[in-house]
Amino acid sequence: MTVDFFKHRYGYEIEGAWMPRVTAVTSLLSKANMFASQASADWGTLVHETIGSLLRGDSIQIDSRIAPSLRAFEEWKGTHGFELKDPQESIEKRVFDFEHAYAGTVDLIANVQGSRGLIDLKTSTAIRDEHSLQTAAYFSAYNQNAKESLRCTMRGIVRIDQYQACLGCFAKQRQKGRKETVSGGNPACNHQWSQAKGEIEFRELPDHQEDFEAFLAAKEVWEWYYRDMLKRIANYPKKVTQKILL
Ligand SMILES: [Zn+2]
Repeated sequence: MTVDFFKHRYGYEIEGAWMPRVTAVTSLLSKANMFASQASADWGTLVHETIGSLLRGDSIQIDSRIAPSLRAFEEWKGTHGFELKDPQESIEKRVFDFEHAYAGTVDLIANVQGSRGLIDLKTSTAIRDEHSLQTAAYFSAYNQNAKESLRCTMRGIVRIDQYQACLGCFAKQRQKGRKETVSGGNPACNHQWSQAKGEIEFRELPDHQEDFEAFLAAKEVWEWYYRDMLKRIANYPKKVTQKILL
C-alpha cells in the first residue's frame, strides 16, 4: 500500500494535518465489517444520503426500495420529539480532535426527547459494541470544539432496518441491495413473505467516559498495527515513533 493510498483510504486532511477516521480505528475491532458486502455498504450509503437530503429539505427522487425504512424513520421522528435546526451544521458534520489525532463525520446533531443528541444512523441488523466506541469518539471531538450552548448531552444510535416477515414461521428476510438473507423461523417452512416493513431501534448510549477511554486504547492498537505507515506520514499530528520511556 502506498502512503497516499493509505491516507486517502483511512483518513482526512484537516488544517494541514492528516488524521485517521474514527471508523478506520474501530473497524479493527469489528468482526462484522470484515465480512460486510459491498451491497450492504451501498445500501447504508443510500439510506444515509436520502435521509440527509430529506432533512435538508432538498427535493430528490426517492428510491422505492428504501421507502419502508424512510417511513419508519419519519414515524420515529414524530414520536420522539425529533428536532433538527441549522441543517448546514447538523448533518454530516465533520469533527476532529488534534490532541488525540482522529477525525470523523457525525451523521446528525439533533434534539431527541428534549436532549441535544449526537446521533449515528446504522442500517446494520443489530447495534454492535464498536458503535459505542465510535460515537464516544465523535461526542468528545464535537463537544470540545462546540460553543457551550451547542454541546451535546446525549449520544445515541438510530438503527434503521427493513425486512419481510414470513406469515407462517416469522422468519425475517432482508433484501438490502442485491443481498438477500433469511434469519430465524423454521428452515423447513415454505415461506410466505409479507410486504417489506421498516423498523427503528433507538438506543441512547451511557458511560461516555468509559467508552472514550476504550476508543483511545483501540487507537493505540491501531497506531501500533500501522506503525510503519504512520512513521512515513509527515503531517500526522501525533508522534507514534518517539515514545518516551521512563
Ligand atoms: Zn416461513
